[in-house]
Amino acid sequence: MAQESSSVLDRLNPEQRAAVMHRGGPLLVLAGAGTGKTLTLAARVAQRVLDGADPNRLLLLTFSRRAAHELSHRAGRQVQQALGLRSTDGAAPLLPWAGTFHAIAARLLRELAPRIGLNASFTIVDRADAESLMGLSRERLGLANANVGGQAADSSRGGRRFPLASTCLAIHSRCMNTQAPLGQVLATQYPWCLDAHDALTQLFRAYAEDKHAQATLDYDDLLLAWQRLLAEPALAAHLRARFDEVFVDEYQDTNRLQAAILRGLKPDGAGLTVVGDDAQSIYAFRGAEVGNILGFAQQFAPLATVVPLQRNYRSTQPILDCANAVIAEAPGHPDKRLHTDRTEAARPQLVTVADELDQARQVADQALAWREEGLRLKQQAVLFRTATHSAALEFELARRNIPFVKFGGLKFLEAAHIKDLLSVLRWAHNPRARLAGWRVVQRVPGIGAVSARRLLDAMDASPEPLAALQAWQPPPAARAEWAALARLMAGLAQPDSPWPGELTTVRDWLAPHLERLYPEDHTLRLADLDQLQALAAASRHRERFLTELTLDPPEATSDESGVPLRDEDYLILSTLHSAKGQEWSAVQILNVVDGCLPSDLSTGSAGEIEEERRLLYVGITRARQQLRLMAPLRFHVTQQHRHGDRHLYGNVSRFITRRVMATLDKRVPALAPAAGAADAALADLPEVTLDLGAALRNTWS
Ligand code: ATP
Ligand code: MG
Repeated sequence: MAQESSSVLDRLNPEQRAAVMHRGGPLLVLAGAGTGKTLTLAARVAQRVLDGADPNRLLLLTFSRRAAHELSHRAGRQVQQALGLRSTDGAAPLLPWAGTFHAIAARLLRELAPRIGLNASFTIVDRADAESLMGLSRERLGLANANVGGQAADSSRGGRRFPLASTCLAIHSRCMNTQAPLGQVLATQYPWCLDAHDALTQLFRAYAEDKHAQATLDYDDLLLAWQRLLAEPALAAHLRARFDEVFVDEYQDTNRLQAAILRGLKPDGAGLTVVGDDAQSIYAFRGAEVGNILGFAQQFAPLATVVPLQRNYRSTQPILDCANAVIAEAPGHPDKRLHTDRTEAARPQLVTVADELDQARQVADQALAWREEGLRLKQQAVLFRTATHSAALEFELARRNIPFVKFGGLKFLEAAHIKDLLSVLRWAHNPRARLAGWRVVQRVPGIGAVSARRLLDAMDASPEPLAALQAWQPPPAARAEWAALARLMAGLAQPDSPWPGELTTVRDWLAPHLERLYPEDHTLRLADLDQLQALAAASRHRERFLTELTLDPPEATSDESGVPLRDEDYLILSTLHSAKGQEWSAVQILNVVDGCLPSDLSTGSAGEIEEERRLLYVGITRARQQLRLMAPLRFHVTQQHRHGDRHLYGNVSRFITRRVMATLDKRVPALAPAAGAADAALADLPEVTLDLGAALRNTWS
């Protein structure tokens, strides 16, 4: 490679360069999808290091661990190239401090927690465990059987029940992340829970006490605790001095609390770089605040610099025309049209199919056809609104032996046997983590809920919980099995317990229990544990490993034995949310029908509908060359929270307006040949009303 071409700036356009070279005040790169925001951010990081910055003193915050890893690697490669070193694939990531807000918070807290009165060996619980904890606090206060006001429910009068633990947690989380008072959150988001205000206040206090007693933090606590560190003047000064610069990708999806943390780290914005796109804000449902990005310039006026980027380098113009048309329909959207030089290309397709089975076959057929044309499966993605919407496709792919990896949705970690193993480690490390103990103890045959509670209470009451565990007398029938667990715990609690070797010890303890509990598939479950061990081998610290696993778990795969090998080819399946920031040569989006996109799980408020529109925009703008929007005319939704299964009959999504239609090619493919049953399905298809204008209606009939 020519020496003189070795600059980070070489590939960049003038605006991108300006963003890389900008010095001094706070910087915002506000630009549409695929314009190179992430690339520019990586280049800026690389340039800083080339200018002599210490990578240890740069903090990079991204939306997922994967994104942090990629960005940090990309910056590392750029530095190597600029220095004329040969880049190797195995090059280490450039930044030691790169991760999600939550992961970075956890790392800082391991070191600094005692300074704000927290136990440094805290356990982090994921959302599912947090929900269980909330459920336990709810029971402790007697709210589980209460009416919405918190009084004992009178079953004869059938009044409304107190909100479920999951709802309580969602309300709690929204209060934390938006930093809004409970009354306001209830009035605007959960009006049907307004009567529960006082009981919820009490419950949230109990939840906080219970977590504190168990040295347990939920996701929201991590951010809150980080903010508390910054509220201590001495610690704030320490943290400000520790990171010279802070870089944030996907800034449009940060919430108030995260913005407050950034302000704590960089009060006048100097040394702060954020990039994002307001048209891609898709996390308001979880409390993200698009005002953070829209108000950035004003917040740091007059020091802030805003760099817009115009040109899209990802997609062909026909795909951008479609994306532009979708977002142009959003009320109040400023005309921010994406354009590119890549004008020679086919238009994206709107493909109407009979039902989800037909859709699954068509999508698989197309993926294979593209592969024949030279697009590897890995360069193709199938995107969908909700994790469960890929079920028919997963089945079809499995039937045809087409490998795939799924992002978003059911996680590896949610499997019971994985939770068992991790609970042993968590409990040994933090014996006050009651939820973990509750799970582990009951794995021992002969120990049920009553004995488990007795043991955990004894441990809670003791200043030395591990000693209390060793001294405990189990029911006689459980004695031998209990002794094995007690020995295991004693070994794991030793300071020199080997990592990741101790995982083998736990696995060996767990194996016979799994065999007993899951006679039909325990071998598959053990294979999962082995996979976990392989993942652990890559991580030198137990704490780091457990934290990352809890915050950003690995994806579920097509193959029970785990993540496909690195060089194997596989199709990508992803929720639209998890597809953020990524790109593929070919993209198919499932179920572009009303009820699904927009989802009828949303309450249908104007704000939520607009968020669904932006979600479609995010999906469309992931595609580089090929895009297909799939619309099954008979769509089968399973709604756990409503009335069980039901069918929805066919309107193509309301986001596919006439203006959007004008950018699409309409296809009504013949039913795939494998579909014996599909003819029947077609025959009993009812009158379909299509919202697409005469052209399509004619083609269909
Ligand atoms: P999103 O909003 O989806 O996150 P983005 O603005 O972060 O998109 P990137 O992912 O950084 O965009 O870039 C999109 C694609 O365009 C990438 O493949 C990137 O390598 C390419 N790209 C960006 N800038 C340039 C450039 N100046 N020259 C060539 N390719 C570029
Ligand atoms: Mg990006």
